[in-house]
Amino acid sequence: MNAENFTNEEYWEEIKRKIQREANVSDITYHLWFENLEFRELSGNTVYIVSEKEDERALGYLNKKFKDYFETVIGEELNQIISVKFILNSNTPHTYEPEETKIDNDTLNPDYTFESFVVGKNNMMAHQVSVAVAEDPGKTWNPLYIYGGPGLGKTHLMQSIGHFILKKDPTKKVIYVTSEQFTNDVIESLRSGNTADSMSKLRDKYRTVDVLMIDDIQFIIGKEATQEEFFHTFNALHDAGKQIILSSDKNFKEFKTLDERYISRFAWGMPVDITPPDYETRSAILKNNADKYKIKIKISEEIIDYIASNIKSNIRELEGALNKIIGFSKLYNNMEPDLEFAKEALKDYIYPSDSNKITFDRIVDVVCQECGASKDAIMSNKRNADIVYPRHIIMFLAYDMLGITYQQIANNLHRSDHTTVISGCKKISEEINSNKSGKNTKEKVESIKKILSGN
Ligand code: ADP
Ligand code: MG
Repeated sequence: MNAENFTNEEYWEEIKRKIQREANVSDITYHLWFENLEFRELSGNTVYIVSEKEDERALGYLNKKFKDYFETVIGEELNQIISVKFILNSNTPHTYEPEETKIDNDTLNPDYTFESFVVGKNNMMAHQVSVAVAEDPGKTWNPLYIYGGPGLGKTHLMQSIGHFILKKDPTKKVIYVTSEQFTNDVIESLRSGNTADSMSKLRDKYRTVDVLMIDDIQFIIGKEATQEEFFHTFNALHDAGKQIILSSDKNFKEFKTLDERYISRFAWGMPVDITPPDYETRSAILKNNADKYKIKIKISEEIIDYIASNIKSNIRELEGALNKIIGFSKLYNNMEPDLEFAKEALKDYIYPSDSNKITFDRIVDVVCQECGASKDAIMSNKRNADIVYPRHIIMFLAYDMLGITYQQIANNLHRSDHTTVISGCKKISEEINSNKSGKNTKEKVESIKKILSGN
């Protein structure tokens, strides 16, 4: 059997049906996920399969759930070991790395390049420094440390550097891993008894590279063994003049438990931050994304403005909102969305402005909902831990977000004594800083705040 046969529609369908049986999935799933998949080509050992869905998330899902089945079934047909790459219709296979490069590059997202990165005030410095590092890895700033809140483009920027370096010199060994992958590799090596063999496997992977990128380094901090291995990897690479790129949710100086030896090493390089984008940058990113779809669906300025004015703190959500509108419009035969349509599509993302106003009652509602407590219990004198905790969060948020006095908060909660409010606020703010109880109070409070402010 050769690859030509796959372009025959009937034959291709037969193959997909076989995969459906192998994967044991229903006809509904078949229609949703397999029907729109086209065979594009076999290049080297890679089979490119096009998804008509034009949605990154579809690719993620296909990769996660079905890649193995496709590889097995198609591989059997072709009598060779193949790997499958799902791509979007808008990508041609040739925008991917050529086969012969010996780079473990599966993990770089092909869309995360400098070309598609919109530069605004919020990321200008980070961008500039990243380009400099990409032009001259291991020389200028080592390590490069990119930090900032979620969804602001750290991963995108860091991977852009990887793409740039590989494009210029495909023989360079570039590795991108999440902290989780790095941790898993260390654990794996420990589990296999830390034998010379398992250690050398780990070292081969991480210490022989030209560029090592570790994303979201905050998750390594505090994990003793992983942190230690990272430290030695860092030193080995740095001594050899290899580039290290790290990202994190905050500046390393803010990690209270981080050892001085890390801090001093991180400080050798360049910490750069990315802050939330301003309105212009938000619209520019949206326009860029909307352009990808413009042949089929036109997104008006008005809609871009609506999204950019309402979603402010996270680019991932900004893109999510646009995708939601596009997805909605596809359901209606690519109908051109107007503002009303967009508002309807985004009703879970953006709340109408009056219900968006933060009041004491809304704080109580949202906290109850998020913590699974009842409003009556909150207002009562009950002192069980599962009521006291959300009650304290309410006190903290009311003080923080409404700017009212402790006494007013006490009154709202039907209490006479404002000192309980003071101690409640204090407890939460200590929890935010220490997470001693392991309840992830900081994350919880942040996510409630997000809901309250409507993004
Ligand atoms: P982080 O790693 O900081 O959480 P990501 O890099 O994953 O954020 O970015 C989230 C999404 O926003 C990605 O789809 C990314 O392509 C997009 N994005 C972020 N910043 C920009 C930018 N400046 N220009 C274009 N797209 C961006
Ligand atoms: Mg990221």
